Amino acid sequence: MFLNQLIIKTLPLVPKSIVHHFAKKYIAGEELSDAVRVSQMIESEGGMTTIDVLGEFISTREQALHEKDMCSKVLRAISEYHLQSYLSIKPTSLGLGIDYEFAYNNIKDLVEQASGLGIFIRLDMENSPFTTKTLDIYKRLRAEGFTNIGVVIQAYLYRSEQDIIDLIPLKPSIRICKGIYVEEKSIAIKDPEEIRTNYMKLLRLIVDNGMYPAIATHDELLIVDALKFIEERKLQRDEYEFQMLLGVREERRKKLIQDGHRLRVYVPFGKDWYGYSTRRMKENPNIAGQIFKAIFIKN
Ligand SMILES: Cc1cc2nc3c(=O)[nH]c(=O)nc-3n(C[C@H](O)[C@H](O)[C@H](O)COP(=O)(O)OP(=O)(O)OC[C@H]3O[C@@H](n4cnc5c(N)ncnc54)[C@H](O)[C@@H]3O)c2cc1C
Repeated sequence: MFLNQLIIKTLPLVPKSIVHHFAKKYIAGEELSDAVRVSQMIESEGGMTTIDVLGEFISTREQALHEKDMCSKVLRAISEYHLQSYLSIKPTSLGLGIDYEFAYNNIKDLVEQASGLGIFIRLDMENSPFTTKTLDIYKRLRAEGFTNIGVVIQAYLYRSEQDIIDLIPLKPSIRICKGIYVEEKSIAIKDPEEIRTNYMKLLRLIVDNGMYPAIATHDELLIVDALKFIEERKLQRDEYEFQMLLGVREERRKKLIQDGHRLRVYVPFGKDWYGYSTRRMKENPNIAGQIFKAIFIKN
């Protein structure tokens, strides 16, 4: 355990080629064609996907416009290949950290294009400086008449319950997840059990107010709780879905599909795979342990 923590701390020193070896599992590849191929594979198993262009932490408008162009290509590919897929976007990758109006217009252009193609877009939720702005973008787009968009709520934030209550009149599709960023304890629950309890509570708040939940978790306890709750409320198959990340708990994913639940896999692709995959590894120290073995134990 200590060793795993040590490895996580020293991850930035690990050669990129070794990180890549373990990252492969979590990303479709560097090209859009990889995301299409993986989506088709998951569809052949009975699942659906949401495609994400890896491109957060941009610092210039040019980079944001490049990301927008990539997202636009994803939308065209989803349409061209008739994929059971939608697009997930990170508002900062479209410029939210640079200028709100600039990002808003970029996102609006994509939502408009997606709307024309009959495709849904999910606004991923990033760290807390962007929570209010991201929800505001969602509300503005809805006010402009777009309905092909959804939001994400993070169970670790104290504010999330109120955010859901504020969204009730709009009846959004809400992806509920635990939350992945490191936040201050003044705004975020730190105890894993309390995060779980809040997740269960928020899932009920979403469903009992007529909103569509995308239940994004690999936590067995939360999956079992959600299944029990779905049964209790007698939800139809098209009234909810499960979501998982590519490369995580694949057997569980297949079982949920076999049992007849809708399941969507988050499929990231792109050249900026490094930041994404090191975050995934930090979540799972066992994988960090594998890196250690790869460095020190030569077969
Ligand atoms: C589809 C999807 C979309 C998401 N979107 C967002 C978002 O917009 N904003 C945001 O802040 N967060 C997002 N997340 C991340 C989420 O907030 C959690 O950080 C992440 O899902 C881990 O939480 P968990 O509920 O799976 O529980 P955990 O307790 O972290 O994991 C439960 C179990 O799942 C397995 N597991 C979890 N992670 C890994 C891994 N990387 N590799 C191997 N096994 C693993 C392990 O067996 C672990 O014990 C998303 C997650 C999913 C599934």
